[in-house]
Amino acid sequence: MAYHNPDGVMIGLEIHVQLNKLNTKMFCGCSTKYHNDEPNSHVCPVCLGLPGSLPVINEKAVEAAMKIGLALNCEIVPQTQFHRKNYYYPDLPKGFQTTQYDFPIASEGKVFIEGEDGEHVIGITRAHMEEDPGRLLHIGSIDKSKGTMIDYNRSGMALIEIVSEPDMRSPKEARRFLDKLRNIIEYLDVCDTTLEGAMRFDANVSIGGGSRAEVKNISSHKGAERALLFEIVRQKNLLRRGGTVVQETRHFDEARGVTISLRTKEQEHDYRYFPEPDLVPMRVADRTAKVAETLPELPDAKRERFTKEYGMADMHAKALTSEIRTADFYEEVAAKIDAKICTPWVADVLKGELNYRDLTVESFKVDDMVEIIEMVTQDKITEKSAVDVIRAILDSGGSATDIVKEKGLIKVEDDVVSTAVLEVIKENEAAVTDYLGGKEQSLNFLVGQVMKKTRGRADAVQAREMVLASLNK
Ligand code: ZN
Ligand code: MN
Repeated sequence: MAYHNPDGVMIGLEIHVQLNKLNTKMFCGCSTKYHNDEPNSHVCPVCLGLPGSLPVINEKAVEAAMKIGLALNCEIVPQTQFHRKNYYYPDLPKGFQTTQYDFPIASEGKVFIEGEDGEHVIGITRAHMEEDPGRLLHIGSIDKSKGTMIDYNRSGMALIEIVSEPDMRSPKEARRFLDKLRNIIEYLDVCDTTLEGAMRFDANVSIGGGSRAEVKNISSHKGAERALLFEIVRQKNLLRRGGTVVQETRHFDEARGVTISLRTKEQEHDYRYFPEPDLVPMRVADRTAKVAETLPELPDAKRERFTKEYGMADMHAKALTSEIRTADFYEEVAAKIDAKICTPWVADVLKGELNYRDLTVESFKVDDMVEIIEMVTQDKITEKSAVDVIRAILDSGGSATDIVKEKGLIKVEDDVVSTAVLEVIKENEAAVTDYLGGKEQSLNFLVGQVMKKTRGRADAVQAREMVLASLNK
């Protein structure tokens, strides 16, 4: 496939996914639920790296890693092994990070995204398991900070590092890849992506086959897009002025929207990787098939099923499956109401109102959705009133039934409307004469009067038809 990419931009991403839905950390029994607790309150000799402490592999973390690997269409290695990655930094009390090197648990996968010109395959080089370091809190910005604090609650959390091929050609594609990845991770139910530090990103960027710069400290999808946009412009300007891009590590300053040089990039061999002597190689081959059986239906498959099973447009299937909770919500509604009717209500109306308010589908009850749609199909409220009810629930809570009652939205009976129509025609002779004389706008006036008489509870389209019918008599 030929891409429009005159500058030869190549972007690769490394994503650290924290397995925060596990109960315990990667190699010790400390709880992973530290997010609202005091710093350094979820620690033990293992995750503090005290002498004499020994790691024990968390079996659930291995299963989660295999799930992620399989969901990314990777090969699962028959036997994996942990290595020590040696470097000194205050967030790493042992002086090395226990990670995987020669035998990552998963490799050679692929993810499908919508590129600028159709479906685009992003290669997954590898996905490996490792432990999270502690968390450093710089006071102020990293380059001018007067002091740094350290919290080891995060130390030893299980991480999966996913490394992509440099297959993305623009910051927008990188963002779509991250969105897709988050989507898959959420489906697997291994990570609460809304928690602080749940997904963290590093990006490699090069232009026209030149050296690549690595940008670290990206913490959101929007941040990734901004960091990449900045970095591409920086490299282009440098090349335009006759300079060269050097291989280096840069830090993304989210507040300022710029990348700052941290250090010239170290080489892999600088880390003196060697096999972790405290952990024996781990054979996983005989488990792969079993773990594969536990995989849920993944986003691409669900999207395809929705188009077939519910006969919806791909655009709707995409919107409904972009988050697992929205997909589940939809299926609960569709179990009670014909899909053809409820699809636009959930995919267009509700999702639109949620997006507008930056809310998720948890803010809405399935029962309310069902009730609102039923009231429309049973002709009790107008479509416009239904939208008003949805808005009212999102803005100030309450149930559909109560809001319809409070706001007096129950549509008036047909005979009430026809009485109103007769009265309006009797009371507005001038407008009637104008209309019959060819003045089209008079019709709108008459319909408006009917709506006013019924206090907005008549269906406007129906009222219009009834006025027309009366006039033509
Ligand atoms: Zn611990
Ligand atoms: Mn890593």
